[in-house]
Amino acid sequence: MQQILVRWYDEALKRKSQFLSELQQFLRIESVYNNSESRAMAPFGLGIAQALEHMLMLGERDGFITKNVDGYAGHIEMGDGEELIGVLGHVDVVSPGNTEWTSPPFAPEIRDGKLYARGAIDDKGPMMAAYFAMKIIKELNLPVHKRVRLIIGTDEEHQWRCVNHYFQHEEMPTMGFTPDADFPIIIGEKGLLSLTFTGQIKEIHSKESTWRLEEFSAGQESNKVPDLAIAKIEGDGDVFIVKELFQSFLLEHQTHGYAEEMDTGLQLVLHGVAHHAFEPNRGLNAALLLSKFLQQLSLDFQGSQYIEMFNQYFTDSFFGEKLGIAVTEEVLGSFTINVGICRYRQDGESSLTMNCRYPMGVNPDGLKERIAERLASYQLKLTNVEHLPLHYVNQEHELVQKLAHVYEEQMQQPAQLLTTGGATYARAIEVGVAFGPLFPGRLETAHQHDEHVEIDDLIRAIALYTQAIYELAK
Ligand SMILES: [Zn+2]
Repeated sequence: MQQILVRWYDEALKRKSQFLSELQQFLRIESVYNNSESRAMAPFGLGIAQALEHMLMLGERDGFITKNVDGYAGHIEMGDGEELIGVLGHVDVVSPGNTEWTSPPFAPEIRDGKLYARGAIDDKGPMMAAYFAMKIIKELNLPVHKRVRLIIGTDEEHQWRCVNHYFQHEEMPTMGFTPDADFPIIIGEKGLLSLTFTGQIKEIHSKESTWRLEEFSAGQESNKVPDLAIAKIEGDGDVFIVKELFQSFLLEHQTHGYAEEMDTGLQLVLHGVAHHAFEPNRGLNAALLLSKFLQQLSLDFQGSQYIEMFNQYFTDSFFGEKLGIAVTEEVLGSFTINVGICRYRQDGESSLTMNCRYPMGVNPDGLKERIAERLASYQLKLTNVEHLPLHYVNQEHELVQKLAHVYEEQMQQPAQLLTTGGATYARAIEVGVAFGPLFPGRLETAHQHDEHVEIDDLIRAIALYTQAIYELAK
């Protein structure tokens, strides 16, 4: 067999200006989820539909086979053969957020070798890099004996309805990767279990109290550490004393907040630090901290039950210790739990949504039951379960071996195999891993204001993806 020698990086570098101009156009599309624009062929809004169409239009222009699957997802396909290799990216982006950007999020700007825009690193930049990899293989006429599909998702940042719909109608690749996380290679991801408990806590015992907890609320999404918690209390206690206590509590825990007198009673507002739910110990959970404060007050029975539950099972216990379900293993690490959404109303229903990430050797049904048993004593019942099973590809698998070889050859560095508590599209395919685009040591700016990517890194990613796709499909 003839040995093919391609200078992967040089081929990527030759196309740098074309790549940057294509990418900047693509980044101008405001592909943020917009439920109110949902319609046929645009289930997640017009911006996202336009971004999907834009990618497919490029594919068609460059002579690939393309398909739009009901506006949920699409693909760009090359090559012939039985077997199918998948590369999965997404065109939807998270909203720009509330912090002012240095340059507008949808007007890409290059400063100091970095490209700034929403989607630059998550995931339009890497998706365009993977597309250019396919273009290079086509332009160089490299012999491939399998089909390769760039599968374009549109709802990655929300509910993955895109890939779910896609794989209900389209072929499952035998293996593949997603350019939507970190280099070198992520081969394992923890299982995800999001549990919602609901109930109306009833007065069982009468209790002497100075304050009644009227409302308690924190968090919007279970996959984030809540950075704001609010409680309303009413009663005939001394407002001044509570304010003083609260101030010194905030000081002691080095955070901000305030107590405000209302028409009736007092509103307490506490700020925490948001963080991704897979590392709950690295944020500052506002709900847990505020409940810790409230425990010092003399509260009514119902309110004190809700607050006690946090302190009993969750406060300062991010690995399930207080629930008696802590577990750590070598491959995927520790079980983690994040209390993400809390709602309490004195005169209505209360709820609690937690996001758990479990490693190998844990039975998710058993886990669910054990937490439910504990919370039953607080009159809360399990009412909703969302589950993503854990995902793992053996390091001996040809997919991992080939990607590791490509990485080591081009980077002249060992391809360390990683695992994560997060969820990537790698799970959407039966045999899938995450492969880039963030290089070790680089600052993570996805989902943040001033999101950016090092342009040189994207060019290197094109080179890696080109060789990777070629090695997998040859
Ligand atoms: Zn992403």
